Amino acid sequence: MQAMAKKQEKSKKDAKTEVETEATGMNCIFCKILDGIIPARKFYEDDTAIAFLDINPASPGHSLVVPRHHFKTIADGTQEIIAGTFVAVKNVAELVKTRMNCDGLNIMVNQGRDAGQVIEHFHVHVVPRYKGDNIHIIPPDRKMSDEKLDEILDKLK
Ligand code: AMP
Ligand code: ZN
Repeated sequence: MQAMAKKQEKSKKDAKTEVETEATGMNCIFCKILDGIIPARKFYEDDTAIAFLDINPASPGHSLVVPRHHFKTIADGTQEIIAGTFVAVKNVAELVKTRMNCDGLNIMVNQGRDAGQVIEHFHVHVVPRYKGDNIHIIPPDRKMSDEKLDEILDKLK
C-alpha cells in the first residue's frame, strides 16, 4: 500500500516536471539560469524578472533583464509581465547608472533573428555608455524623402 502511494506520488511529481518543462523553454539558457541550473552573475531580482551581467559585454556593466517566464517576443508576453519587466528595466538602469558611474545607457531589445536575437527568451539589454567609448549601437541615420515618410506614417496610423 505504501509502495503504491509512493508510486502515485512519484508519477504526480513527474507530471509536474513535465508541465513545468513545457511552461519554460526547453534548452533555453536563460530558463536554466532562472532555474539555477547554470550560474550567472545575478545582481537584481523581483517578482517578474531578474538581471545579470552579460557574459560577453559590449561595455563594463552590460546587463540583461530577463523575465521569469519564457516567451520569445514582446507580443508573446502578457501585458502584466511586459509592464513588470520594464519596471525591472527602470530599476536596473538606475542601479547600473549609479554604481557604474557611466555617462549614458543604451536600453534595447533584439527581436527576431534578423534583428540580432540569439537567445529566444525575451530580454532587455542595459548597456552603460562611457564618453568616447566608441561603441556603435545606434545605426547611422539615412535620409528619407517627405513623401516616403508620409507613406510610412499612413501605414502606421
Ligand atoms: P541577443 O543577441 O539579444 O539574443 O543577446 C543575447 C545575449 O546573451 C548576448 O549578449 C550574450 O552575450 C548573452 N549571453 C549568452 N549566454 C549567456 C550566459 N550564459 N550568461 C550571460 N549572458 C549570456
Ligand atoms: Zn527561456
